Amino acid sequence: MGYHHCMIVIEFKLKGKAQQYRVIDEMIRAAQFVRNKTLKYWIENQGCKLVDLYKQCAIMAKEFEWAGKLNSMARQASAQRAIFAIQRFFANCKAKKPGKKGFPLFKKHTRSVEYKTTGWALSADKRCLTFKDGFAAGKFKLVGSRDLHYYAPDEIKRIRVIRGADGYFAQFCINVERKEESVLTGEAVGIDVGLNHFYTDSNGDTVPNPRYLRKSAKALRRAQKRVSRKKKGSRNRKKAVNELGRKHLKVSRQRKDFAIKTALCVVKSSDFVAYEDLQVKNMIKNRKLAKSISDAAWSQFAQWLEYYGKVYGKIVVAVPPQYTSQNCSGCGNLVKKTLSTRTHICGCGTVLDRDHNAGRNILAKGLKQAAINLNTVGHTEINAFGQSDLYLLVAASTSKSTD
Ligand SMILES: [Zn+2]
Repeated sequence: MGYHHCMIVIEFKLKGKAQQYRVIDEMIRAAQFVRNKTLKYWIENQGCKLVDLYKQCAIMAKEFEWAGKLNSMARQASAQRAIFAIQRFFANCKAKKPGKKGFPLFKKHTRSVEYKTTGWALSADKRCLTFKDGFAAGKFKLVGSRDLHYYAPDEIKRIRVIRGADGYFAQFCINVERKEESVLTGEAVGIDVGLNHFYTDSNGDTVPNPRYLRKSAKALRRAQKRVSRKKKGSRNRKKAVNELGRKHLKVSRQRKDFAIKTALCVVKSSDFVAYEDLQVKNMIKNRKLAKSISDAAWSQFAQWLEYYGKVYGKIVVAVPPQYTSQNCSGCGNLVKKTLSTRTHICGCGTVLDRDHNAGRNILAKGLKQAAINLNTVGHTEINAFGQSDLYLLVAASTSKSTD
């Protein structure tokens, strides 16, 4: 079993009436007010303690109507923001950081308010969120592709309500001790990412690039053009810039979703995953938009592979990308290819799709690399890599991680 303690953030768009959004604006303003007021009190009462600041929150609630409307824990969360800023300032001073120490400033454009475990409720089907404090913003529909059903209500530790470029959002911060039973499959896989397919694995299976990413790339390009055509400083340009911001957000959300789903699927179906070290690959800069979108999708995919590897107690290794496409996965000989050569043909009789060949090389490299790692922690007996040995290798490493 793999143990992993982590904070998961699941974001939804909040769908409500225009008037309800204005209420959220008020909630955010109240949070900012509390934060700034706390900071002011601290500046005027040097040497005061944390407890004093929390006491101030309660006093503020009685003194100012709108501060009183905000849920008491949300009020404290706002005060905490000021306190964190103060503490960070002191830490910087203590560490004798050169330059600005980051003296806490009064905020004017706060975009979010944070609720803890009270002041809100989820509907039974967990598709609606209702705010229940003095502001009474009411019920919002949660729009998003993720599911809250998977988590126990007491695992939701905070909800951050955010005013974004394209609407209002709720981020659920979920604290989970993930104890996923790792079902060993006996499978090992090497993964080659590319432009033709999102990835091709060492078994020759492919996952296509999601079509919406290409569609979004087009929409992005159009929005970018619109911005450049508008006169600088004009209202229309401002509008176009806003539109572009919204398109960017949409792409990044789609990409994240895709990366999470794909990585989870890979980790669940294999005990050992080797992938190309994309950071190295990404150093080759490419100005093409479609390519840059794929690059970002790949690096997110890699991050989630690593993450789920920990959660499920599987081995995930990044291997350097050199020669993975040029070498023969059958005999190891160098078979030079240009970018347009789609098939790998070697004198040894190996004929494979180019990416399939690369996937197999990546797997072999990864296994070799993992063996070196295992050797250093005292598993020298494992050095052959049939599937049954691999099973052993995975079992050895997971039992270690739960010691
Ligand atoms: Zn060969």
